[in-house]
Amino acid sequence: MKPVWLKIIPEEPLVLGSVRPDAQFLTTRAYIPGRLLRGAWAEWLKTQGEEDEGILAQVKKLRIWNFYPAVDDGQLLYTLPLPLTAMTCKHESGFQTAFLSKNKGHGVVDTLLPQLAYHLLREAGAQMTAPFALTCAQCDGRMEPAEGFYGVYEAHGRVGYDQFRPRYHAQTKVALSRFRRASQFQMLYTVNALSPMAPAVFDKNGHKKVMFLGRVYGDGEVLQELKRALNHVAIGALHTRGYGRVHVEETAPPHWPSLKERVETFNCILTDLWQDLKRLAANPDELPEKPDGLYFSVDLLSPGVFVNHGLPELVPELRINGRVLRPIWWATRPDMASGWSTAWGLPKPTNLAARMGSVYVYRWKGSLDDLLPTLQALEAEGLGLRRDEGFGEVLVCHPFHQEVEER
Ligand SMILES: [Zn+2]
Repeated sequence: MKPVWLKIIPEEPLVLGSVRPDAQFLTTRAYIPGRLLRGAWAEWLKTQGEEDEGILAQVKKLRIWNFYPAVDDGQLLYTLPLPLTAMTCKHESGFQTAFLSKNKGHGVVDTLLPQLAYHLLREAGAQMTAPFALTCAQCDGRMEPAEGFYGVYEAHGRVGYDQFRPRYHAQTKVALSRFRRASQFQMLYTVNALSPMAPAVFDKNGHKKVMFLGRVYGDGEVLQELKRALNHVAIGALHTRGYGRVHVEETAPPHWPSLKERVETFNCILTDLWQDLKRLAANPDELPEKPDGLYFSVDLLSPGVFVNHGLPELVPELRINGRVLRPIWWATRPDMASGWSTAWGLPKPTNLAARMGSVYVYRWKGSLDDLLPTLQALEAEGLGLRRDEGFGEVLVCHPFHQEVEER
């Protein structure tokens, strides 16, 4: 099952938050959760005279994943949230491959594969002579997690990375009828909206339009309906008041690495690192040439809601060809999964969730060909609960894990 990639260009500021009915602040995320698009689509169907039952049946025909921001400038290859294992220099944070000198830092590096190689060597009996430590390659300073969204751009024959820098504007408004419920009439509240413009990637004084890139799976004809709806109805909160109008088109990110390529490269780099680090062990001659088994990461592109025997948990199991796989290494942090159904005006239950950017590594004792169909389905269908709201979106072997040297 292949995804269709859509590009969403906002024409007005967006309020992409989840809102509680008693809140006096409306804030926004910097990305578009798939559930907001589904909600907007449902609202559109309602204005077309559809009954609730028909709407539910219709919106279930597509899996709408989340949409990540980038500046629409030059040749954008793709945009993704950084994994929790991405680190940058604490003194001069940011990509060293950014196109403008004002955006350059000492670089961003991914620590998953070095940490995994170290972990697996110890598991194989290596007596490591030094603990795993990481400092900035340029200034030897401390590193801190690099967060947010990054875009991969190509210009003049080179590929550069740039962090997305959202712009917000705040406005204080008088509540007339918030979300069509006239509670707290004339109460003052503050709106923090995501601007449809952001600083340019290639021009140091310019501003360019923001765009969002994401994947949708399902029937092609139904997809056309979704596009039609989103080109007519605004998304997010406050959409009758000058917020949330967007334009949607189909796109195809150039040079998007296939799943198979990503898994193969992941294992190649892991083997290289294993051989490098092995030399640092006190007993290199007792250690095998390469790690045992095939490894892959499952990266959360949105918060994930996981339950095991009725209890919430942050570390998901996979079921592959009748086998249960537990991750052998992970990096995760807790988050809350809340939500608001704009279509039906009802708050959704709140669950414990694993944060966007969480990384889980699994070991497979078998061939890649046996594994690929399951991994393909995982990228299409997601992992865990509340996937129809956009929770549990995953990517297998996030391409940023290949960046084991500062980018
Ligand atoms: Zn540094």
